[in-house]
Amino acid sequence: MVKFQFDPSKCILPYDANELRPTKCLKCLDVCPASLLMFRPLKEKDEFGAPKFFEIHMIFKAYSKKFCPDCLKCVDICPEQAIKIKI
Ligand code: SF4
Ligand code: SF4
Repeated sequence: MVKFQFDPSKCILPYDANELRPTKCLKCLDVCPASLLMFRPLKEKDEFGAPKFFEIHMIFKAYSKKFCPDCLKCVDICPEQAIKIKI
């Protein structure tokens, strides 16, 4: 399994109330050739019950060795060095 590590202290993804989703950055999602990266809400909620922040995670983790070619594009494009990948 590919080990995907995300540091939420380096990547802050606030909720965008107009778009109903985080809109900041998300370069890692755009660059992944296998579309393996997604955002998901963290537990903390605002006064309307909407998630305050999101984190990046890898989908199909159990099959990541098959789908993730270890291109490291997500690591290279991240301006905050928030992503680490270990094979
Ligand atoms: S290493 Fe490449 S394929 Fe794997 S998650 Fe990152 S961008 Fe996607
Ligand atoms: S590229 Fe880095 S800073 Fe941008 S959303 Fe992805 S993990 Fe966060």
